[in-house]
Amino acid sequence: MSLPGSSPYVVVGAGIHGLSTGYHLAKELEARGLGSGPDIVVLDKTEPGAGASGIACGVVRNNYFQPAMSELMQACVEVWESDPEAYAYNGVGYMALGAARQESDLVATYERQERIGYRSRLIVGETEVDEYMKAIFPDWRAKGVTACLHELQGGFAFNKDSVLGLAGKCESKGVRILSGFEVKAFESRPDESVAAVITSEGRVEVGEQLVLAPGPWAKHFWRMLELPPTIDVRTPSGDVVRDRPMWTYWNLQEGEIQVDPLSFATADGGAPPVIHLDTDAPLYTDDGKLVTDELWGIYYKRDRHGVQGGASPLVVDDDLELDPYPSTTDVDPDFPDMWCAALSHAMSRFEGCRPLYKKARSGGVGAFTVDNFPVFDYMKPNVYCILDSNHGYKMIGVGREVAKVLAGEHSSLLYPFRFERFATGDLHPVSNSPYPWS
Ligand SMILES: Cc1cc2nc3c(=O)[nH]c(=O)nc-3n(C[C@H](O)[C@H](O)[C@H](O)COP(=O)(O)OP(=O)(O)OC[C@H]3O[C@@H](n4cnc5c(N)ncnc54)[C@H](O)[C@@H]3O)c2cc1C
Repeated sequence: MSLPGSSPYVVVGAGIHGLSTGYHLAKELEARGLGSGPDIVVLDKTEPGAGASGIACGVVRNNYFQPAMSELMQACVEVWESDPEAYAYNGVGYMALGAARQESDLVATYERQERIGYRSRLIVGETEVDEYMKAIFPDWRAKGVTACLHELQGGFAFNKDSVLGLAGKCESKGVRILSGFEVKAFESRPDESVAAVITSEGRVEVGEQLVLAPGPWAKHFWRMLELPPTIDVRTPSGDVVRDRPMWTYWNLQEGEIQVDPLSFATADGGAPPVIHLDTDAPLYTDDGKLVTDELWGIYYKRDRHGVQGGASPLVVDDDLELDPYPSTTDVDPDFPDMWCAALSHAMSRFEGCRPLYKKARSGGVGAFTVDNFPVFDYMKPNVYCILDSNHGYKMIGVGREVAKVLAGEHSSLLYPFRFERFATGDLHPVSNSPYPWS
């Protein structure tokens, strides 16, 4: 497909956000009599799913301590549930198991889920959690877990398949997806709106609005928009922290053991929920070496060829070259030992699984904002940015909200993620989780 000379709506990035925006915007324009799919072009320098959306573990959960995240996620799960087949979505549920210090967060999250109508159960107390887990997984043996939030909605989706499902939906509406078009620069007007996008293959004028959904390349686009590399952040107490770097890279550590996927099943043979376990019980390898006696955590799910999951990510200290993506930099060489020990700590069926760890590159880099939460906002008069701070494969519904905003409506779900929050101190509350995205 060739590059049009102009298009009313130009979307950059064919990941979960760019494609969800393309599809939902086509529907929104049609419904309002404002246009249709052919008014939208999605540009990607590689192809759909070439970024983080194509390598994401695919976990879909609501478990967020921050009310705005939880409410947004409920809307996203609604989109996943609207077409499980096209989105390759497995609504198997999700379990967050935490140590005593996380109990109050999980209780607060559960209470909110009750209020907003997100189906979940809460089990509190070490014995109670142990009994609950053993009823589902008779070989459950994790220690130090005092709370379990069992979300009956959510689960996971297959990354590439869901991206292709969204791409198919875009195309069914006449949205053009152009692969191999790298955005190099923007041509701005005096009011700072973008008049045209300069790509490796030519120039396209932006008739109405430009949407940027660049995933890990957020910092790169931030620079292209001439936005500041560091910002001042007002905290809720009123103090101002000066010159914080707007973007930091984290390396997500993930891996897989090659076992029969069906060996990871519930007691009645059903598909298991995604498990996220955090505990401060000492962690030992199967041959008795201490891995850590501090709070540790892992997540895992049944995959097509085994069991897949990860652990807490690592900060990347410097700037880095993202291409070719996924660029995996300082992955901890001890990660496979830790993750396999943790699987075995959780369930005896995984005892001795370390030799089954697949030696393949897994995981990848994500770009995180200064407070580790997304920025969804207009950063120039006609440039809407979807910068999800690496939360976002599960956020398939953000594109639906963005489509409404592009059509002139207010989105109360996106409003808490406006850039202005850093200046006003209207930040999201911080949880007791060891992860930067909880
Ligand atoms: C290893 C890993 C595991 C993860 N697991 C989960 C998970 O289980 N659940 C979850 O919710 N989230 C997860 N995430 C986070 C999630 O993957 C991302 O937040 C989300 O996919 C970002 O989507 P996106 O559409 O913004 O970006 P991407 O999917 O990265 O898409 C951006 C696109 O922009 C294109 N692009 C970049 N630069 C240019 C340019 N100059 N011109 C044109 N095109 C360009 C790229 O080719 C790419 O296709 C994970 C992330 C990683 C790295």
